[in-house]
Amino acid sequence: MKLEEYKGIYVFIEQREGIIQNVALELLGQARKLADELNDKVYAMLLGHQITDQAQSLIARGADEVIVVDAPELKEYTTEPYTQAICQIINERKPESLFIGATTLGRDLGPRVSARVGTGLTADCTKIEIGENGEMLMTRPAFGGNLMATIVCKNHRPQMGTVRPGVLFAMDADESRTGAIVNYEVKFNAAKFRVKLLETVKEDNNLIDITEARILVSGGRGIGNKEGFEAMDALANTLNAEVSASRAMVDAGYIGHDRQVGQTGKTVRPDLYFAFGISGAIQHVAGMEDSDLIIAVNKDKHAPIFQVADLGIVGDAKQIIKKLTERLEKQ
Ligand code: FAD
Repeated sequence: MKLEEYKGIYVFIEQREGIIQNVALELLGQARKLADELNDKVYAMLLGHQITDQAQSLIARGADEVIVVDAPELKEYTTEPYTQAICQIINERKPESLFIGATTLGRDLGPRVSARVGTGLTADCTKIEIGENGEMLMTRPAFGGNLMATIVCKNHRPQMGTVRPGVLFAMDADESRTGAIVNYEVKFNAAKFRVKLLETVKEDNNLIDITEARILVSGGRGIGNKEGFEAMDALANTLNAEVSASRAMVDAGYIGHDRQVGQTGKTVRPDLYFAFGISGAIQHVAGMEDSDLIIAVNKDKHAPIFQVADLGIVGDAKQIIKKLTERLEKQ
């Protein structure tokens, strides 16, 4: 492998039903910053069916070139067609780096692609930056989140990483930016398609994804039980907020995993984050510490959550939730 043949920072643009996901824009924004430092280019890989009209918007968000693969085989995500398409792009165009969102989809796609092209993958990165010698530094939690490990890919290309949603910043759309849109044809090997999507069943709820919510009311073991969550629901309704939780409450079955904040849940950055009865374990804090304003309620004044809170209240979470809800309902 001649490393110098590999060039450009490539970003996989995740879209669902034609809607580009925030994580893809965050990756593009960071790729733009890195490329400017390295004097390199950013390539967005947009895969799907009838998605070409989205390409221009990716140039405004930081891409120098958008590689569009528009094919019926890519209408819905299944592993094999997407893997084949990306591997063909890698083999023909030789990217230096390639980033994918660490979403459910990206966590399926990334390892498959990296294994097939014979390179490594730094999974679940929380930071990507350039080192002193121009090397790509990919940082991810290790040892249960107690250490942050910085990984450098020395001997293989592309250097691949999946990156958690919500940890990087998208750039504002700049419509004056110019770039190329390239339609790229993939020769699929349909004999290898072993999975057929028969039906998509949508979750029957109107909940907003917690990564998109502006206000989160989050509960931990300290709110106790089902009644505790019902009280949080009532508070969330008065604030037009979403409910989220620590892993302890997800593991106890009070709320779904899609509502878990933290290292093995989601990274959130709302304007306001309430932490009710959450101790503030490092794995939880990793997912919420960048919230604009953090209000924590805990009966233990030494709870670590107070170290990241802007406003800390020592007291019984259930009582405070109740009083706050009553007060807000009167307003
Ligand atoms: P506890 O730590 O039990 O804290 C409960 C808190 O409630 C205490 O501080 C207590 O003082 C307070 N309290 C009790 N009663 C009241 C009351 N009436 N009023 C007010 N306060 C009260 N955790 C996550 O949250 N997200 C993750 O993504 C995650 N990933 C992990 C990954 C790994 C590899 C590992 C090893 C752990 C992970 N964890 C994660 C678990 C994490 O280490 C903690 O165990 C978990 O966050 C604790 O949840 P908690 O704060 O709700 O419970």
